[in-house]
Amino acid sequence: MTENKIPYKIYLEESEMPQAWYNVRADMPVKPAPLLNPATGKPCTAEELGAVFCGELVAQELNDTDRYIPIPQEIRDFYKMYRPSPLVRAYCLEEKLDTPAKIYYKFEGNNTSGSHKLNSAIAQAYYAKNQGLKGVTTETGAGQWGTALAMACGYLGLDCKVYMVKCSYEQKPFRREVMRTYGASVTPSPSMTTEAGRRILAEDPETTGSLGCAISEAVEDATSHEGYRYVLGSVLNQVLLHQSVIGLECKTALDKYGVVPDMIIGCAGGGSNLGGLISPFMGEKLRGERDYEFIAVEPASCPSLTRGVFAYDFCDTGKVCPLAKMYTLGSGFIPSANHAGGLRYHGMSPVLSELYHEGLMEARSVEQTKVFEAAEYFARVEGILPAPESSHAIRVAIDEAIKCKETGEEKTILFGLTGTGYFDLYAYQKFNDGVMDDYIPTDEELQASFAKLPKIG
Ligand SMILES: *Cc1c(COP(=O)(O)O)cnc(C)c1O
Repeated sequence: MTENKIPYKIYLEESEMPQAWYNVRADMPVKPAPLLNPATGKPCTAEELGAVFCGELVAQELNDTDRYIPIPQEIRDFYKMYRPSPLVRAYCLEEKLDTPAKIYYKFEGNNTSGSHKLNSAIAQAYYAKNQGLKGVTTETGAGQWGTALAMACGYLGLDCKVYMVKCSYEQKPFRREVMRTYGASVTPSPSMTTEAGRRILAEDPETTGSLGCAISEAVEDATSHEGYRYVLGSVLNQVLLHQSVIGLECKTALDKYGVVPDMIIGCAGGGSNLGGLISPFMGEKLRGERDYEFIAVEPASCPSLTRGVFAYDFCDTGKVCPLAKMYTLGSGFIPSANHAGGLRYHGMSPVLSELYHEGLMEARSVEQTKVFEAAEYFARVEGILPAPESSHAIRVAIDEAIKCKETGEEKTILFGLTGTGYFDLYAYQKFNDGVMDDYIPTDEELQASFAKLPKIG
C-alpha cells in the first residue's frame, strides 16, 4: 500500500481551485426543456422568473450556451474557507472488501453545514446581496440546505427565512438551532403563516410536510414581501452549475495522478451533487472525448428516475412554481414518514432527467436498510460518519467493488460523499435498534399520483 504513489488524500493548492463553473448544458446536443409558466403554458421569460429569483441567477438558469461562467472573487474567497475538499483514495475500504477495484470519494462534509450545499448557498446569497435585496426565503428538508443558506446569509448579512419540513423540524431540533445561531428564522412547514400552508393543512391536518409543500410556502413568502427572493438548493440548472466545483476539483486532482475513473456514482435527491460531480466528465463524454459510466442512486421509497415518468410537473405541492420537465413521481407524492434516509424530493433536475432519458446515465434505487448497512460498514472502515443521503452512493460503490472481486476487474470507481450524518442519529438509532423498515410505494400509489400530473405536451 505504501509504495503506491497515490496518497490517501489528494489535496489541491488554492491556486488549482476552479476559476469558473462548468455549464454542462453548453455541451448537451439536446438541451433540458425550459421551465414553463403554468398560467400560459409558455416558457418562463427572464422577467417572470425575476419576480421569484435573483436576476443574475435567472441569467444562469437560462444560459444554455456558455461553457464556463466565471466564479466571482468574493465567492472564491468564501470557498477557500472550506475548499478544496479532499479526494480520498479509499485504501481501507478496498482492503476490507478485498477488491481489485480502486475506490475514490470526494468528501463534501468538511464544513459546518455538513454537506455540499454550501457551494451553491454562498453563490445564491452573493447574487442576492449584489442585487441589493434584504433577504431570501427557502425550504429545507433534512436541514442541510437551510443550514448552508443560513451560514452564507450570516456571512453576507442577509436576512434568511427557512421553511423546514415539519417532520424534520421535530426530529432535528439541533439543526434548527444551528440555523438560528447563524441568524436564520425557521418555521415548520406546512405553517399557518402562508396561504399555501393553510390550504395544505386544511386538506390534511395530520401531514408531516414535504419539500414540495415547504417550497410553496417559501415562494409565497418571497413574492409577497418587498426586497425578498426565493432560493432553491437543488434541482435548478443554476444549482448544478455551482456544484460543478465538485467535479472540476475531482478532475484536476485525478489528472495530477493520471487516474481516469471508469464509473462515477452519486446519490440523487434533486440531482445537484450528482450533476456537479459528473458535469465535467459528462462534458467529455458528450464531446466524444472519453467514455464513463454514470450511476444515479435514489431511495426505493422515492424512486423518481427508476419508476417516475418524464413529464412536465410542478416543482412544488402548492403548484405556485414554474413547471419543469423532469422525471417525477408527481408533485403530490409524499414519501412515507418511515423513510428516514433523505432524498425525499418527488422530481429530478431537468439536466439529469434529459441525460438519463438519452441513456447517458444509469439509475438504481436502493432500500434504506441496505443503505444504512453500507453507512455503518463505511463508518467503521473509513472513519467518517456518512449522511444517509451520501450512503446511497456508498451502497452502490460497495456493490460495484464486490462485483469487481467476483470478476477480477480492476475498475476505478469514484463516488460523491456528500456529507456527514451527525444530525441523522435518530435514523441511525432506528437502524441500530433494528426497527428500521423498508417502504416501497406500490404501482397503484404511483399511478394515482401520475394521474394528477398537469396535462402538458
Ligand atoms: C441535500 C443533500 C443531498 C441530495 O441533494 P442533491 O441535490 O440530489 O445533491 C445529498 N446529500 C446530502 C448530504 C445532502 O445534504
